[in-house]
Amino acid sequence: MFDRESRKFTENLFFEKGETVAVVTIQKGKEFLDYLVPKGGVATGAIVKVPIRNRIVLGVVWAKGLFSQTPYKKREISKVVNLPRLNVNVLDFLLSSSEYNIFSLNIAIRLCLNPSLNLEIPNSSYYYEMGDQKIQIQTSKRKRVLDVLSSKGKQPISKLQLRTKAQVSESVLRNLEEKGVIKKLLAKKTNDFSTIETSFSSTLSKAQKEISDQVRSQIKSKSYSTILLKGVTGSGKTEIYMDAIAEAISKGAQVLVLFPEINLSTTFVERLKQRFKSGFAEWHSSILKKEKRKTLIGVLDGSLKLVFGTRSAVFLPFNKLGLIVVDEEHDTSYKQEEGTRYHARDMAVLKGFYSNAAVLLVSATPSMETWVNTLQNKYRSEVLSERFGNATMPKVSLIDLGGRVHQQNHWLSKEIIEKISFCLSNKTQSLLFLNRRGYSPLLICEKCFQMLSCKNCDAKLAEHKLYNALLCHLCGTKYDIPKTCPSCHNQSSFIPVGPGIEKIEEETRRLFPSAKIEVLSSDHYQTPTDLKGCFQRIISGEVDIIIGTQVISKGHNFPLLSFVGIIDVDLALRGGDIRAAENTFQLLRQVIGRAGRFNTDGEAYIQTYFPKDPVMKAICSNNDEEFVMSQKNLREAAKVPPFGRMVALLISGVKHETAMSFAKYLVTQIFFLKDYGVEIFGPADARISKMRKKFRIRVLLKSSKNVAIQRLLKNALQKVRPPSGITLIIDVDPINFY
Ligand SMILES: [Zn+2]
Ligand SMILES: [Zn+2]
Repeated sequence: MFDRESRKFTENLFFEKGETVAVVTIQKGKEFLDYLVPKGGVATGAIVKVPIRNRIVLGVVWAKGLFSQTPYKKREISKVVNLPRLNVNVLDFLLSSSEYNIFSLNIAIRLCLNPSLNLEIPNSSYYYEMGDQKIQIQTSKRKRVLDVLSSKGKQPISKLQLRTKAQVSESVLRNLEEKGVIKKLLAKKTNDFSTIETSFSSTLSKAQKEISDQVRSQIKSKSYSTILLKGVTGSGKTEIYMDAIAEAISKGAQVLVLFPEINLSTTFVERLKQRFKSGFAEWHSSILKKEKRKTLIGVLDGSLKLVFGTRSAVFLPFNKLGLIVVDEEHDTSYKQEEGTRYHARDMAVLKGFYSNAAVLLVSATPSMETWVNTLQNKYRSEVLSERFGNATMPKVSLIDLGGRVHQQNHWLSKEIIEKISFCLSNKTQSLLFLNRRGYSPLLICEKCFQMLSCKNCDAKLAEHKLYNALLCHLCGTKYDIPKTCPSCHNQSSFIPVGPGIEKIEEETRRLFPSAKIEVLSSDHYQTPTDLKGCFQRIISGEVDIIIGTQVISKGHNFPLLSFVGIIDVDLALRGGDIRAAENTFQLLRQVIGRAGRFNTDGEAYIQTYFPKDPVMKAICSNNDEEFVMSQKNLREAAKVPPFGRMVALLISGVKHETAMSFAKYLVTQIFFLKDYGVEIFGPADARISKMRKKFRIRVLLKSSKNVAIQRLLKNALQKVRPPSGITLIIDVDPINFY
């Protein structure tokens, strides 16, 4: 029953032919449309096809029809798709996620059913057998069908084979089928996911074992709970959650593992293969449609027990979910920043709640949101404090750049240079980290100080020697490097300002001409396989010095790495958004955590102009608790997330004037929110005021958490239609403010 007050389902309902049901389709427009139930009846959650005007559209039966009378003639459901229906927990999750993120249920259904995959099981997956009923009126065609079937004995035959052998049309078969003379059966599993093997680790340390037992008993209880599994890089968190996965699967439940980026998948697949052999599926943007289709059907019919994927996998319709693991839960890649906005980690918790499943959030540096939830006892916390085996955490020192005379084109301090020499002579690896792609982030004319900008975006162009071009990091447009300054017409007057990793590479090669150097940013590889090759070279010791951006910070083991040099993170610290400090802290911990993961003692140097910054202090002292607590206090005082709610409205359009006047109108329409204590900031030009030829205007709403801002806003926005050419994006819990 669909309860309009709590907006929750409590049971599946069955409707007989002729009754009216509300269907949610994948098409934009009204959320609920009424249809008549066809012959055979239909239950809530059934996947159906319905007519809308002159098209047939995929949808899901949601509830009893909303209207006893409609202004239009009710039409019948065209087809009940031959797939298992969605459970009430899936429906509840979809509804709740659409309300939380302020998108329509139509979009939720779209995210869940991935209509482009063409879900239906093809006819070839059915086979025919003799039925229980005797034939009443014999015809030559019917006789041929029965002759073919009886000659096959107990052997099943596909529809195509049957039609060809008996030389009859489909309608003859359908007719015999309806009369029960022949039976159509779903072919035995089109996808065989049954090969998955479950086993438990036998090498857990005492600390690991204790946590593992806790987590496994939570899974056995088949009730909702979110557990934070915190442990430094290399402490053996993965072993614990692999056991949790095995526990859930051995109890017949399904498991979803989320990871932040495709790049991490290749390494992870290998670990999963070692443990579970086969019978699991991947879900991310590089997976072929054909595979995804199999996966989606396997998820629905319950034959597929383990899926691991990036954020969109959180919307897959698991009917029997027992565990969700969110690896690197603090990672901002979990936030969908294109199209429909949602945070996959938060959706995972919501999904776990409605599925009565355990949710395991895994991180060495948990997000503030998660950390505060553990303080408030909403989540449980399990901490692995030591590194596994003999490995230790690297010792971190700061190199204060303040007061040093900066020589042109020298970005490595003498301390870092000495340390690299030492590593080279000891045959261990060094890593230089700078989170800036290209050769130089900025070119400036030394005669007239003109800087070069992208014509589509409010962004300066970065110089990339790899492409011998200038590149806009917002829209990806490449430009030739101008020979003369477009402003003062001086020749070759542009000079690079500041380093990107290509410039660090140049300096490093000059200093260490015989060292083997691997440079790694998103520009240096094309596919996850390329990246894997690169990591292989590092792991097998073919590389002396690694120079990389944040690509190297995630998930990979570098067993030979003993030194990390951080060239510059000060820029990130001055980012000015509420998460700047937190994100810099997490990034540094991850990068430094690459060193000394095994038996090598690690060391790290950070070059900085702000040695007194709380982030720097926390990283050196290893006192995470104190840092996180101070950040928490700052946010609590400012009433910003997680101690308040924010919703961003982003208005964009090719014409600034139209976009701004719509934004102003929009604010008048939501002004009443102030009566509920909601603060409204803007409209104002966004920090990046133009991107991909479109002007961007922002409105930010800030409220306390006990205001139902989503519901209020959704109601208000239903009356507001952006004019043509203007896009309005709603971003609940925004993490980017540019
Ligand atoms: Zn100039
Ligand atoms: Zn651009």
